[in-house]
Amino acid sequence: MPKTRAHPCPSCATNSLEATSTPSIQSCRHCHGMWFEDGALNQAIANRHEHIDHYDHEQHLGSALRTSDRQCRRCRVSMVHYQLLEHYTTEIDCCPSCDGVWLDKHEVDQVMHSPELKRALNNLNEKVSWKSWLFQFFTAMPVEYNIKPRRTPWVTRALIALCSIVFIAGLLSPEINDWVFAYWGFNSENQSPAHFAIQLLTYQFVHGGFMHLAGNMYFLWIIGDNLEDALGHGAFLVMYLFAGVMAALAELLLFDSSQGPLLLVGASGSIAALFGLYLMWFRHASLTFMFFVYQKKLAPHWYFLIWSLINLFGMFSGQGGVAWVAHLGGFALGLLLGYLLRDYVFRKNPLIAMLNRPEAELRR
Ligand SMILES: [Zn+2]
Ligand SMILES: [Zn+2]
Repeated sequence: MPKTRAHPCPSCATNSLEATSTPSIQSCRHCHGMWFEDGALNQAIANRHEHIDHYDHEQHLGSALRTSDRQCRRCRVSMVHYQLLEHYTTEIDCCPSCDGVWLDKHEVDQVMHSPELKRALNNLNEKVSWKSWLFQFFTAMPVEYNIKPRRTPWVTRALIALCSIVFIAGLLSPEINDWVFAYWGFNSENQSPAHFAIQLLTYQFVHGGFMHLAGNMYFLWIIGDNLEDALGHGAFLVMYLFAGVMAALAELLLFDSSQGPLLLVGASGSIAALFGLYLMWFRHASLTFMFFVYQKKLAPHWYFLIWSLINLFGMFSGQGGVAWVAHLGGFALGLLLGYLLRDYVFRKNPLIAMLNRPEAELRR
């Protein structure tokens, strides 16, 4: 028999375990699991993070769950299943007598990301406080609990700035205000095809009143940053504007033109599409809901279900002044795009994908 340096794998039991370029890290050719000893796992995690010099994964392990059917390569004793982190239920095999750790293939990435996972779960699981209560009580706006974006949300900020500038300019000068509503607002009557197309974009930056602007901009501020981070600046901008165009067309489609021309302003349709994307990609986030004085963190699907019901009620009761159809159309478009792009977004953002897994334990 030819001499081989491969050893039995603790997981698949084939003789496929081979040393990598680091002798204290071995990897299985067959099942692609990995064995770490002599602090190699801590070193590997620290190497993956620029700002971490030393890492001690054992300090962050959750509770010991049960004895594993795998044996330590070195000590020949049964290993023990530990929960990877306190609020993340992935189970890894650790040796009770040496620092040996066995990771199955699908666990490697989660373990390498465990410092970010830990930080994210701490933020997500924060309890509501008197500050969040006061904020919502006086502004009637939800507080968001989500991960911090890695990139600066330039597009989100620019959209907010543009909407605010248009609004303030209109406040300062009635002439500008009339001009903005006449040329930038969406008007279904009396216009050339080119003007029609331009208005489908410009109406998104015009708001009819301070509360209309403030509500829209607040939601754009809290959820736009995470969506822009997940998608990238350019794709986020295209998605936002496209959703606004489609929302206006939806409103136009169901509009009863015997009531006169359709006049439409505001970012609500685009922002409703962002709600749909958010619901599909940020299962782990929470938005607070306030019922009189009782404040509760809700998962996005509950929060936006309530929001949809309010809009459906508005649509069927025929209350004027609010573009219910644009809201619901934008939201439906967001859900569809969110569903179609989910795998792409999760591939580009492994941390978001990991937080969407059932292993993430969320306290609400
Ligand atoms: Zn194996
Ligand atoms: Zn051992």
